[in-house]
Amino acid sequence: MTKARSHHRLRAPILDALEDAPRSRAEIARLLSVSRSTASSAIAELIEEGVIETIDDPAPASRKQAGRPGELVALKERRAYLIGIDFGRLSFKTAISDLNYRLIDELECAFDVGLSAEDALALAAEHVETLIARNGIHRHLIEAVGIGVPGPVEAATGMLHPGSILASWVGADVPARLSRLIGLPVYMDNDANLGALAEGRLGGAVGSKVMLYVLLSVGVGLGISIEGQIFRGAYGMAGQLAHVVTDENGSLCHCGSRGCLEAQISVNALSRSLEATHRDIAPAEMLRLAAEGNPGPARVVADAGSMVGRALGALCNYFNPDLILVGGELTRAGPVLLNAMKEAMRRTAISRAVEHVDIRPGALGDRAELFGTLLLAHERARAAFHARSGFSATSGVQIEGVAS
Ligand SMILES: [Zn+2]
Repeated sequence: MTKARSHHRLRAPILDALEDAPRSRAEIARLLSVSRSTASSAIAELIEEGVIETIDDPAPASRKQAGRPGELVALKERRAYLIGIDFGRLSFKTAISDLNYRLIDELECAFDVGLSAEDALALAAEHVETLIARNGIHRHLIEAVGIGVPGPVEAATGMLHPGSILASWVGADVPARLSRLIGLPVYMDNDANLGALAEGRLGGAVGSKVMLYVLLSVGVGLGISIEGQIFRGAYGMAGQLAHVVTDENGSLCHCGSRGCLEAQISVNALSRSLEATHRDIAPAEMLRLAAEGNPGPARVVADAGSMVGRALGALCNYFNPDLILVGGELTRAGPVLLNAMKEAMRRTAISRAVEHVDIRPGALGDRAELFGTLLLAHERARAAFHARSGFSATSGVQIEGVAS
C-alpha cells in the first residue's frame, strides 16, 4: 500500500517531465531525485495504464555521444502534430513531427538571406501545405508551427530586431503573416536559442547546468542555457556574440559597427579572404579543404577559431559553463577549428573557469535548430492552452491525466 501511494505521488511530476521531451528512465529518476528502481516502477505503472509508452529515440545520433540509451519513455501519442521551419543561414528546412518530436516528413532547399520576407513566407507556406497534403494530416490536429530565424527576436513583440542578417525582414510581423497564410498558430525565436533548446532537451547537453551553444555559419549565433532554460535577457537581445568587436579596424559589419566577429568569421567572409590562394572558392569547398589540412583554408579556419575562442574565454569568465557545444556549417572543418578555439579559450579565461569545460560539436548536427522549432511550437502552444484554461503547467498536466 505504501508503495502504491508513493508511486501515485510521482505520477504528476513524471507526466510533467515528459511534456518537455521524451526521456530515459535514468533521467527521470535524476530529475525527480528518486532512486532508479522507484522511478522504474512508477513508470511501469503508467505504461500499464496506457498513459505513457516506450519509444525509440527521436534524435538517435545524439545519444551515443551523450551516453544515453536508445529507448526512452514518452507520453502516448495523442494524435497531434507539430511543424517546424528553420530559416537557416544556408538552407531552409521544414518538418512535421508528432508530439514526441519524431520526424514524420521533412523538406529542405537552399536559402538566400537576401530573400524578402514576403517571398520567404510564401515559400514556407507552400512547404507547410505540401507536408500536410502528402502525409494526409488534418489541419486541426496540428498544434502549432515554430520558426527559427538568424537574428535576435524581440521578447515583447516576437518581431526581428534590427541588426539581423535578414535586413529586409525587420519590422515585418513574420509570425502573424505566416499564421494568416496557413491558418495555424505560429511562434518565432532566434535560431541559436532554438539550437540550445534542442541540444538541452534532445541532444548533447541533457543534464548540463550552464551550456553555451555557439552557431558558426553565414552568421554567428549564441544560445545560453541555464538549468535547462534559455536565457534571453530583458528584451530578447542576450547572446549577441556576432557583434563582439574583435578588430576596431576590421571590415564593416551589416550592423553598422566595424570588426564584429560575424563580419570577420562568417563562412562567406572566410571564403572571400582566400582570394590569394583559392579565388572564388565556395564555402563548402573551403571547409572540406580545411578539414583535409590544406594550408590556406586550414589557416583561415584556425584564425576564425582563435577569434571565437577569445570571445568564449571571456564568456567562460562571466558564466562558468560546464559545456560548450558548437553547431553550424563551420564545424565541418573539424578539429582544426575546435583545437584553435580551445587553445584561445585557455589563454583568455582564468584557468578555474575553463578547466572543467567540455567543448565539442553539438549532437544534433545541422538539425539542432529544426528540432528547436518543434520544441518551441509545442512549448508555446502548451503555454497558450494553459493561459486560456487558467491552469499552471503542472496542474494542467494533472488535470489532463484525470480528465473523463
Ligand atoms: Zn556587427
